[in-house]
Formats: sequence, C-alpha cells, structure tokens
Amino acid sequence: MHGPSEWDDKAVGLLESYAPLFTASEIASRLAAHGYDFTRSAVIGKMRRLHVATRGGDVKKRKAPLPSPSAVAAFEPRLVPFLALEDGECKFECSPHDTPTNEFVFCGLPHLDDDGMPYCAYHRSIARRSAA
Ligand SMILES: [Zn+2]
Repeated sequence: MHGPSEWDDKAVGLLESYAPLFTASEIASRLAAHGYDFTRSAVIGKMRRLHVATRGGDVKKRKAPLPSPSAVAAFEPRLVPFLALEDGECKFECSPHDTPTNEFVFCGLPHLDDDGMPYCAYHRSIARRSAA
C-alpha cells in the first residue's frame, strides 16, 4: 500500500510522539500503518529538520529509552476538552493544576493502537513508569 509521502500535520505529530520511543525504521513502519509512505531515511531527514532524536540514536545518541527532560519540555499536548476528544486521540489528562473539574482537558495527540492503551507514545511512557 502506498499512501501520501508529504509531511502533513498528522504525520509530523506522529513523528514527534514516536521519536522518543522508537528507532527511525520503527517510526517509518508505524507511519506506514497510518497510511503514510516514508522511508527510514525520510524519517531521519525530517527529524533532523525538527531537531528531534530517536530512541535508536539515528540522529543523536540518547542514553535512556524514556524521554529526557528536554523531550518533556518540548512536548506539547493539544489540550482537548473531553467531549471533543476523538477516537485515536490521547486520553491522558493534562489540565493545569488550577483547572475546575468540569473543564478538564486531555492530551489529544495521536495514540498508538497496538495494545489498547489510549495514550500517545509520550504519555504511554509516563503511564508505564508510574505503574512500575
Ligand atoms: Zn498524550
């Protein structure tokens, strides 16, 4: 199956959420599962332009498999109200501490769908860490 090979907003969002967790070739195959047609080298080239690094160190060596503090700082959830969340969007709550309970907002980034956890790659790593 060959899909689009343009970096649209969704592809970039997926790339950014996968980057801390997967190598470039794993990211390419995950993007393919979303209908995109990127080679491993296209993924690496795009990550260089975005200044993000993969777990596999294709762009820059990373010691820990979990996101580094700089990756955490660069992470930007979309902050979607619960009723506006759609299937396939991260359901990790990201409300600021002073948010009234009836206005909770959620991450809303695309999530991986391989094991049923409704979180993006970043929040999946947090959920895993806090469960450990
Ligand atoms: Zn998330």
